Amino acid sequence: LQRLRARLARSNSAIGKGLLALLSRGKLDEEAWEEVEDTLIASDLGVEAATQLVDSLRTQVKVEGATDEATVRDWLRKDLLELVQPDMDRRIASSRVGIRPAVILVVGVNGTGKTTTVGKLARVLVAEDRDVLLGAADTFRAAAADQLETWGGRVGVPTVRSDKEGADPAAVAFDAVKAGIEQEVDVVIIDTAGRLHNKVGLMDELGKIKRVIEKQSDIDEVLLVLDATTGQNGLQQAKVFAEAVDITGIVLTKLDGTAKGGIVVSVQNQLGVPVKLVGLGEGPDDLAPFDPEAFVDAIVS
Ligand code: GDP
Repeated sequence: LQRLRARLARSNSAIGKGLLALLSRGKLDEEAWEEVEDTLIASDLGVEAATQLVDSLRTQVKVEGATDEATVRDWLRKDLLELVQPDMDRRIASSRVGIRPAVILVVGVNGTGKTTTVGKLARVLVAEDRDVLLGAADTFRAAAADQLETWGGRVGVPTVRSDKEGADPAAVAFDAVKAGIEQEVDVVIIDTAGRLHNKVGLMDELGKIKRVIEKQSDIDEVLLVLDATTGQNGLQQAKVFAEAVDITGIVLTKLDGTAKGGIVVSVQNQLGVPVKLVGLGEGPDDLAPFDPEAFVDAIVS
């Protein structure tokens, strides 16, 4: 956890350093505030949130009179934390419901880190003593099932897959949930394909997977995987997915490779669902629950 914190701090420090350098310059004139706002927008915080934050800080500085850096830093921390919405429920469903396992569907555009996230999440849940089973419903990408199975082997959990490339993803999802019920596991995590050819196609595909799973079980969690480095583009894609299926949480991957941590705020605002997990590297331990306080501290300190 310490290591993850350090990594998160590194990824966000560009925002924080830039901001605090400006704030500590002493002269907070109109130009300086504009620069602060630009820095925040450049971090993918979103124009609305950036404006709101700067307005709030500017008002506080005006009302309280000239202030030292530490005070402004505290205000910034408080305002940022509010924007990150610390009260959102960020728990991941991972307990059996009656005779069935919790079912987690993982969706998102190819390349965002979906399969890797499923593997890492399995590892986190296994460490919490959960029995996990994986479903390889990404049947379009040739190597996806192999990749997932490799993760399963590494983590020590079974993977349900089809040997036929191009098999029906809904059928694999059905089989995975069926196996999960029979084997009495706690959680079934299903990896899906993220072909974003068009909205109707995506809706049809995810809709079918959902309908077929729901013949046996409710779906407890739909996690949308979003690559933090793709910025506004990624946000647009996220919206298309959110229209196709009811998202319950966001996994923001590749936060280690970007100073654009502000995307946490914009994606939560735009989709109205919490960021629940963050990806901070390619390794098996590089997935962490999203911790609003630690996130803001990493930006501000
Ligand atoms: P999928 O197509 O969405 O299933 O994506 P993959 O899981 O295959 O991941 C695509 C690439 O992103 C791989 O090279 C992963 O190792 C890498 N990746 C996934 N998550 C992270 C992350 O949090 N940080 C970094 N740096 N790389 C990641």
